[in-house]
Amino acid sequence: MWTDLRAFLDALRKKGELVDVTESTDPYCGVTAGLQKTCKVGGPALLFRNVRGSDIPVLGGLYATPERVALALGCDSGAATQAAKALERASEKGVPPVRVDSGPCQEICWLGDQADLGRLPIITHAPDDGGGYIASAVAFGHHPVHGRNLSIHRCMVRGPRSLSIAFNSQSHLLSYFLDAEREGRPLDVAQVIGAEPLVPIVSQIMPDNGIDGDEADVAGALRGAPLPMVRCRTIDVDVPAAAEIVIEGRMLPGVRQMEGPFAESSGYYGQGKNSPLIEVTAITMRSEPIYHVIHCGKPPSEIHFMCQIPTEVSFHRYIRRLFPSVVAVHFTPGGIVQHHVVVAIRKNYNQEPINIGLAAFGTNIGIKQVVVVDDDIDITDPVDVEWAIATRVQADEDLLVIPRLAGGPVDPSSRQDSVVSGVVIDATRPWGRPYPQVVTVPGAEQFRIPGVK
Ligand code: MN
Repeated sequence: MWTDLRAFLDALRKKGELVDVTESTDPYCGVTAGLQKTCKVGGPALLFRNVRGSDIPVLGGLYATPERVALALGCDSGAATQAAKALERASEKGVPPVRVDSGPCQEICWLGDQADLGRLPIITHAPDDGGGYIASAVAFGHHPVHGRNLSIHRCMVRGPRSLSIAFNSQSHLLSYFLDAEREGRPLDVAQVIGAEPLVPIVSQIMPDNGIDGDEADVAGALRGAPLPMVRCRTIDVDVPAAAEIVIEGRMLPGVRQMEGPFAESSGYYGQGKNSPLIEVTAITMRSEPIYHVIHCGKPPSEIHFMCQIPTEVSFHRYIRRLFPSVVAVHFTPGGIVQHHVVVAIRKNYNQEPINIGLAAFGTNIGIKQVVVVDDDIDITDPVDVEWAIATRVQADEDLLVIPRLAGGPVDPSSRQDSVVSGVVIDATRPWGRPYPQVVTVPGAEQFRIPGVK
């Protein structure tokens, strides 16, 4: 298991999956141009060594293939199914982090006015973004009752020590902040860049006990040892000791400012949002730090590869507890690994797919379309799923539209106040009455075509 980002980078370099970009790169869209290309061709991770305006190298494309995501999760073979199994086992168990006295992430400390975000290689992702964004940091927050939370948010740089942080409405960290705000308190939050490579992936898990769950416990179980953490220098939050860069700050109560737009994981510019502000109190880092960026774009981009396993593992565990008939789930790339889910079931009663759909809308994933199929369908094959819809659906009976759901800033089709609607498509055969048989010809599998091996 990789105990820091650098160990993972060494391994990728040996495999030819990490390449240096030495020519001068523009932080305005230059880095993202390279990342978009490498995501598109399933290329290597890129280390931009010469980004104009900063001495700090910028790393991206770390998750630009499903195999590298599996490797990042500690699966040697790079097989996604194996990595998903490992993450599922880790979600069942949980190993809490351990606090250590010191760590490399505080080798360099910029405190007070020294903590100037302009000293970091802040990049602009796309031409019409509202400004430079930090969109790859894992936010570590703490709540007096609910405990720790890990999550990723787009953060617009507003000034040397000021960041906007955008939320979707069901975010746990937002709920932590609203609780603090009701008491007139700021909320301490640390933005962690370049922790060991499983941390951003695990931050996307939904722990079994919801808002009371600690994603860092899942990270510990997955890595086979507690995650070593150090206390921040200026706020009451612990962060991974081996992280490359940590931005410490406080979310200010009673303050909102418009931020955005931002080139989102939907492939569109996400709308502007009236978002809370973070006052930066310190920036700490390893010596010779690496600034890690995760590329967002029209799917498939690395954000989709990164979210696939944690989203599917979390949703499967959740929905299977309610509906034991669920066999497998798949979030489709075209549905940005968020809006569209296909669920395979061994149906126990006729209206079960509708109930499953309603439960799916109750998660904070942002699901808009649930297709429920029988377990003879390969849910990862779009042709097979469409065949089920073509041959097992009558729209007047098998579709249910749910209006007025809460959506997120990512969805360009959402209405004012992020209102969306959802659809359940019951593409299962009716239960308890005969249905025409699927044709199979015995011997086809075993048949050997002369001359074809
Ligand atoms: Mn959480």
